[in-house]
Amino acid sequence: MKKTPAHELLIGAHTSAQGGANNALLEGLEIGATTVQLFTSNQKRWAGKPLSEEEASLFKETMQNTGLTKIMSHDSYLINLGSSNPEALCKSQKAFKEELQRCQKLGLSFLNFHPGAALEASEEQCLEKIVKSLEGLESLVEQGPTRLLLETTAGQGTCVGWKFEHLDFIISRVHKKIPIGVCIDTCHIFAAGYDIRTKKAWDATLEEFDRVVGLKYLYAFHVNDSMKPFASRRDRHAPLGKGEIGIECFKVMMTHPLLREIPKYLETPEGPPLWKKEIALLREFAS
Ligand SMILES: [Zn+2]
Ligand SMILES: [Zn+2]
Repeated sequence: MKKTPAHELLIGAHTSAQGGANNALLEGLEIGATTVQLFTSNQKRWAGKPLSEEEASLFKETMQNTGLTKIMSHDSYLINLGSSNPEALCKSQKAFKEELQRCQKLGLSFLNFHPGAALEASEEQCLEKIVKSLEGLESLVEQGPTRLLLETTAGQGTCVGWKFEHLDFIISRVHKKIPIGVCIDTCHIFAAGYDIRTKKAWDATLEEFDRVVGLKYLYAFHVNDSMKPFASRRDRHAPLGKGEIGIECFKVMMTHPLLREIPKYLETPEGPPLWKKEIALLREFAS
């Protein structure tokens, strides 16, 4: 495969959509990003503001003008597609459907979502509920370009999605009905017990991912270091090289033939000034 020049590799961050989705793209441009992740509505509220035609067309126009591509949405933190509480499940399914519709209207490539939390139920019951929730979107997915990406989790509390087997459970049941894939969060898989600190560790983890899920389902990365130790199942992001994972992991990501070209989105703390430096650093590793 032809190697993409470092400055064209898809690297960005979760930028702010305050004042309009369009602003997330503009902030991306300021920090040297070639892609971004954003919230299409308030991530802490159930009712998403409907997207106006003006906002959607302005967003698409700015996408064209800035050259940013493979834009990703992150779903609301309130959504639990595997909830054991019928009322919460229903609310989640409705909110997720609306989220997908907003993504489609904006022409986004990816909708990244946390698979779900089992609460009082078993992991398997939770996974089955997630499958049902996703199957409910079958008629909707054809209406836009958006692919749904399961985010790997750290396995805090009763969250599922921290084992590759959980991802496979869902994907193998829905992949013929909806466009599905995985976004690996480096902080989360490390906290979940998959080592990525060295090239050797990365190779073993990728081999495991390929065996259990299949590398063809790997579409994106959240790039974060981890404040919490290996296999701690705690989710706290750190700036690259300032956490328990260390900088070698990210050097490997930018040079490894299986990882280099995959879109990457920073969610490190501190915001735009740090992201600008980290994006430049990742491009330096890649060149
Ligand atoms: Zn993430
Ligand atoms: Zn996280």
